[in-house]
Amino acid sequence: MKIKSLLKTSATGQQVIVKGWVRTFRANRFIALNDGSTLGNLQCVVDFESMDDALLKSINTGAAIKITGNYIESQGKGQSHEIQVTDLHIYGEADPESYPIQPKKHSLEFLREKAHLRVRTTTFSAVMRLRSALAFGVHQFFRNEGFQYVNTPIITGSDAEGAGEMFRVSALDFENTPFTKEGNIDFSKDFFGKETHLTVSGQLEAETYAMGLGEVYTFGPTFRAENSNTTRHLAEFWMIEPEMAFFDLNDNMDLAEKFIKNVLNYILKECEEDLIFLDDRLKQEDKSKPQAERSSMGLLEKIKFVVENEFKRVSYTEAIDILRNSKPNKKKKFKFNIDKWGADLQSEHERFLVEKHFNCPVILYDYPATIKAFYMRMNEDQKTVSAMDILFPGIGEIVGGSQREERLDVLQKRIKAMGIDEKELWWYLDLRRFGSAPHSGFGLGFERLVLFATGMSNIRDVIPFPRTPQNAAF
Ligand code: ATP
Ligand code: MN
Repeated sequence: MKIKSLLKTSATGQQVIVKGWVRTFRANRFIALNDGSTLGNLQCVVDFESMDDALLKSINTGAAIKITGNYIESQGKGQSHEIQVTDLHIYGEADPESYPIQPKKHSLEFLREKAHLRVRTTTFSAVMRLRSALAFGVHQFFRNEGFQYVNTPIITGSDAEGAGEMFRVSALDFENTPFTKEGNIDFSKDFFGKETHLTVSGQLEAETYAMGLGEVYTFGPTFRAENSNTTRHLAEFWMIEPEMAFFDLNDNMDLAEKFIKNVLNYILKECEEDLIFLDDRLKQEDKSKPQAERSSMGLLEKIKFVVENEFKRVSYTEAIDILRNSKPNKKKKFKFNIDKWGADLQSEHERFLVEKHFNCPVILYDYPATIKAFYMRMNEDQKTVSAMDILFPGIGEIVGGSQREERLDVLQKRIKAMGIDEKELWWYLDLRRFGSAPHSGFGLGFERLVLFATGMSNIRDVIPFPRTPQNAAF
């Protein structure tokens, strides 16, 4: 039986078999067993007098074991039920001298170096169960809304969006690289007969599917070779990208807000125990921080706040006015001072708006065209585009989206102005040639959502094996 279902039953007296890993073994008598199905451990009581000494010695933290016994009401305090062990089998021992995950507090930095074993800690198992539930909540939400799930390619032959920050995909021999007469690398000899990269986003391909299936979403890995060594950037991360025909920017914002609230609500219902644990963990962490750095809200409180309150919608122009007149700007406290309209917002500005000014999630919309991508729809003012970013407390940007430019001539003009080769995008432009329609979409970085939902502070701790600059261990 899984410990999760066992701990839910009160049907005592039954004989059960459970398999898992020893968290602790106390007084030669009490095993705290965990099988990953739930936060809680199952107390298993062994009768050491009738047990073989060698067997007893190998019940160490980390060992994989099978327990057969009677499920009974607990004799002791601290748990309602326990197992009276009648038979114990050890699958694999864990030498206490060398097993790194001992029953004491390990730092997150230390555990990052033991990423293959860290899921055996309470914190990481809770985080990863939440991650899994969130992913399910995402699929459930879109399914209920009538969206189709599309898988866009991971290897891409179009480098229109993120040129300069993509990982190359190649099967060429580095020792024996083919060159053209002009002395360039001859990609026609490469596997695909052309240059290819790992995708930075599935959006352009998702758009093609929205223009036939109506409402679609992708949920897959994306890659960025930018050297951003922050607590919010990974080189490999998972992105959720819905794309909807006949949606304008307002519909897009409505959907994004509903979506985030819905998946957070889902984990409030499904993952209560893990959330309570992480909430408590955060409170403990906070105690060791100076007053000014402590979170004003607990984790559960924060999630509920987001679920229950409307996101504040503010235009870029309004935001710039607020920032320009803000205290930190006047006192030159920002690293990048905001002096005029058109400035790109840095995360310090986004966080000021969300954490200091509005104190709630914020949707910024109608950004200057000059700081946004070519595919975003030009507004009537000819200065701004129908873009929207959702900013979250503690995270900064969690969603980036827009209404897409559906007018062929306008799109061609922007592509040209941005110095992109139109030929690269022939298929994307075809969507505007044949049955074009207003449409919108957004991208939500899954790990940023997991960060928010778990209260963890480093994105490296919410994905099993993080890839960051100089780090691709495991
Ligand atoms: P940022 O300004 O934070 O770098 P971005 O503007 O590059 O974000 P987009 O290209 O709009 O982000 O990507 C959509 C979403 O993907 C973002 O809102 C964010 O949630 C997420 N995201 C972007 N880059 C990363 C990254 N390197 N690691 C994890 N998530 C990311
Ligand atoms: Mn970025």
